[in-house]
Amino acid sequence: VGEDPASHVYVRNKIAACAEAGITSIEHRRDATLSEADLLALVEQLNRDPAVDGILVQLPLPPHIDSARVIATIDPDKDVDGFHPTNVGRMMIGLPAFIPCTPHGVLHLLKRSGISCSGKHVVVVGRSNIVGRPLANLLTLKNDLGNATVTLCHTGTPDLGLFTRQADIVIAAAGRPNTVTADMIREGAVVVDVGVNRIPDATKKSGFRLVGDADFAGCSARASAITPVPGGVGPMTITMLLFNTVESARRAAGRG
Ligand code: NAP
Repeated sequence: VGEDPASHVYVRNKIAACAEAGITSIEHRRDATLSEADLLALVEQLNRDPAVDGILVQLPLPPHIDSARVIATIDPDKDVDGFHPTNVGRMMIGLPAFIPCTPHGVLHLLKRSGISCSGKHVVVVGRSNIVGRPLANLLTLKNDLGNATVTLCHTGTPDLGLFTRQADIVIAAAGRPNTVTADMIREGAVVVDVGVNRIPDATKKSGFRLVGDADFAGCSARASAITPVPGGVGPMTITMLLFNTVESARRAAGRG
């Protein structure tokens, strides 16, 4: 809904990934003037449609629309973003649930890179409902993706470096370039950079380039592993969206 340029890029990438995986996707693009009632009606129509296994409402929504209300209207069984309070609650207590795609992607990225979180001190920077908070929660669960000791930092943390320097794994999800710099990590730490920030760059046709929340050049000299931006967490987010959608289709077919 609306003209957020980054949202358009994300939606395009998700549509392309669906096509590549053989999943049918239908884009319902609407102007920023769309009323909340009309958006809720569209979500309800998709809830009822048996041909639809997954519903994703691309955020952010225009300010006149209550995002929480829209998310709460999505059928939890089709909530492939994992933002519905039912899925959030189930995830919190370790029950089967749709897990939010970015946090889930981070956990699989670490696992498949041979980096276990079990027994490690993980510092998460950022407490949003879509990244930092679910990630911190998942990391505390007693399973093969979690079992970590977790510190969750935010703008109320007076000395961020005091905490990040104690971390085996630092996960930056603050939405600000250079939030994590080389002096804020210990030698050999792992850095996962979730941030996607557009900064002006006159050498680019678009006029901008993408950077993460960590100073990549500085941190790579000290870290044992670090994810790039773009190309690190972003593709994993889309992958986990496809994973959730396939899971939903399997459940609907009685094979979940
Ligand atoms: P958000 O809703 O803006 O939340 C940012 C969080 O970081 C807030 O909790 C904020 O603290 C905290 N924060 C900001 N500056 C900080 C600082 N200097 N020190 C400590 N904490 C700080 O952002 P989000 O939706 O979680 O997204 C975070 C970043 O990840 C963004 O760059 C976004 O574009 C990116 N992202 C990437 C993907 C992907 O697939 N790669 C997916 C989602 C998001 P307060 O709560 O105190 O304000």
